[in-house]
Amino acid sequence: MILNKICDLTTNRQPLTLAELPVPSPSPNEILIKIRVCGVCHTELDEIEGRTPPPHLPVVLGHQVIGVIADIGAQVTRLNIGDRVGVAWIFSACGQCDYCLTHRENLCPDFKATGRDVHGGYAEYMTVPEPYAYPIPSTFSDEEAAPLLCAGAIGYRSLQLSLLQNGQTLGLTGFGASAHLVLQMARYQFPQSKIFVFARSKQEQDFALQLGASWAGDTDEDPPEGLDCIIDTTPVWKPVLKALKNLKPGGRLVINAIRKEETDQSYLTNLQYPEHLWLEKEVKSVANITRRDVKEFLLLAAQIPLKPEVQTYPLPHANQALMEMKERKIRGAKVLVM
Ligand SMILES: [Zn+2]
Ligand SMILES: [Zn+2]
Repeated sequence: MILNKICDLTTNRQPLTLAELPVPSPSPNEILIKIRVCGVCHTELDEIEGRTPPPHLPVVLGHQVIGVIADIGAQVTRLNIGDRVGVAWIFSACGQCDYCLTHRENLCPDFKATGRDVHGGYAEYMTVPEPYAYPIPSTFSDEEAAPLLCAGAIGYRSLQLSLLQNGQTLGLTGFGASAHLVLQMARYQFPQSKIFVFARSKQEQDFALQLGASWAGDTDEDPPEGLDCIIDTTPVWKPVLKALKNLKPGGRLVINAIRKEETDQSYLTNLQYPEHLWLEKEVKSVANITRRDVKEFLLLAAQIPLKPEVQTYPLPHANQALMEMKERKIRGAKVLVM
């Protein structure tokens, strides 16, 4: 399925077109993957509607890819034909800049994203450089593994950046695909920590309590105690201010959002130094992911084990899956099956 042009999904409900493309052949350092499944992510909506536009069109979207290696280039040494691997949002980085040399290739100026800067996984085949493909633990089916590659891996990075210590309190503002995996990770890694979930819908709040949150309430509500760390996954500004207010002195807010709505920036005029930042409160955003995040997270996910709920669609129904995501008809992570 290819994206031919940036469009508005409220008027165009068929943004992707089924197309016949040649099977790509791998460069010397690349592998060719016969794709089995590909997860559907909110970022695809941002790409289609032009908030993070692909630099070249047409492009094949999709960055939560699971498949089997069908061919390898001459310089490939670690992986073999027949291996099951995954590909995530990070497709490649330069490998030479300061960021790349310090395990921060997510910040590389030459960072390339799968399914945006290069063809991704809404297809039968794709190629990727060998170092950016990851063996998938056998604990997971293809469908279960796909959503872990984005929501799970970036959630893992957010939790790392929050510097949460066992016993400290953690808040989660917004409770979507990433946050519900973070909650399970945090409960496993920090069993003494209480987790407080802020979500708009009663359904999400109930789900959070089922998964072991100590408290769940609306994004406007006050938690019963102050929070050491908060991870925000909402696309808006209002809960950011509220989160800063809820932080304890020395607390840390990690914003895991590719963008924030500009229309509600007016909330920022309410930013008060004494209330929101004084006493060493910190704010940090999360950008992309590194290879190390994906590798470490997949091992952790297999240990816990994390089992995402999934809903599958055949590849030609990709538009339907995207529209349902847009309209928040969400029952588990959406996965396309080739
Ligand atoms: Zn994603
Ligand atoms: Zn680099």
